[in-house]
Amino acid sequence: MDVTSLLADLVRLPSINPMGRVLPEELIFESRVTQYMETFFKNMGARTERTNIQPGRDNLVAFMDPPGNPSQTILFEAHQDTVPIDGMTIDPFGAKIEAGKLYGRGACDVKGGMASMATAFARLFKQKKAGMPQVVMACTIDEEHGFQGIQSVVNQPWLKAKDPKSIWAIVAEPTRLHIVNAHKGAVRWDLQCRGVSCHSSTPEKGKNAIYSMAKLLPYVEEYAKHLAALPGHPRIGSATLSCGTIRGAVPDFCAVQVDRRLLPGETPEGAVNQFREWLGQKCKDITFEVTEPWLAAPALGDEYSPKLVQALGKSIKSRIGTLEIDAEPYGTDAASLCDAFIPAVVFGPGSIAQAHTKDEWIEIEQLKMAEEILFDFVISQSV
Ligand SMILES: [Zn+2]
Repeated sequence: MDVTSLLADLVRLPSINPMGRVLPEELIFESRVTQYMETFFKNMGARTERTNIQPGRDNLVAFMDPPGNPSQTILFEAHQDTVPIDGMTIDPFGAKIEAGKLYGRGACDVKGGMASMATAFARLFKQKKAGMPQVVMACTIDEEHGFQGIQSVVNQPWLKAKDPKSIWAIVAEPTRLHIVNAHKGAVRWDLQCRGVSCHSSTPEKGKNAIYSMAKLLPYVEEYAKHLAALPGHPRIGSATLSCGTIRGAVPDFCAVQVDRRLLPGETPEGAVNQFREWLGQKCKDITFEVTEPWLAAPALGDEYSPKLVQALGKSIKSRIGTLEIDAEPYGTDAASLCDAFIPAVVFGPGSIAQAHTKDEWIEIEQLKMAEEILFDFVISQSV
């Protein structure tokens, strides 16, 4: 099957990550894509493994095992979920092709990358022979919201049995065929204040949590400025902190979501602890709570993947003539692999500028080129 037809099929299968919201059942979660890809891999004769992560949400992994005992594994990883379709101006599941572009939710982020990887995998599977590296393709869940899929992959027995350095991972995200080898991580938690409820006619008998939060927030802002002024990473800049939604704002309870972007080398736990200590020192008279993080994804550092960058870069350059290596502010599944000591980079067709947009599309030429590059790259690693 060619990469364009495969992508069209994937776009027609809704796999929206509801990201905590209530959306129609026939549109949400990854099961339709999982089922389709399982059939795709089984039809070619590949060994597959499904891992249930949440009710109705499975990771799918397919293996190309060449004869002999290959010393290297190339891992292709692509997430199955997409963001919701609110406000889209095109048919999100139409997969319309016009003027060299394929339109639809996920076309760019990241069913396009998945299709390029899967068609490269299929061609490699056909050529299977001694001396080739093992190729594993992981189709994961929940990249857009909680990163649970990839965090399960790194704990699977097949992966744990290997030396992490013998695995090279390529994570699909729309990078315009550039290599992204460094990006920020993210950790989110809640800052909470509790008060004492009372009748609104007698406020003097209570303690209003909203006022306490209002007193705390200037210190949070000060901390954000302090972080931004610290020396950052030479390629991705400084750590950041911002406040999102205020919720549960009733007089006896108030919570604010805090979003902290991490630099390579920082841990989510460390970032939460630093924040807790800073506020504790600044605001001795206000009682607050800093919850455990409800989302945590590390950053991707560029020091872990120089050989992989060099080898993949060679395949890119020989196909398109140029090579760009970028650092980005957004997080990806590559960081969780890197955290497990697996060299990982991000690479894929399409631009992040078209991801999550109201008329999401991808250039078909990029899809084909990504397939060729991935194919060449694996062949170049044969011994
Ligand atoms: Zn993505």
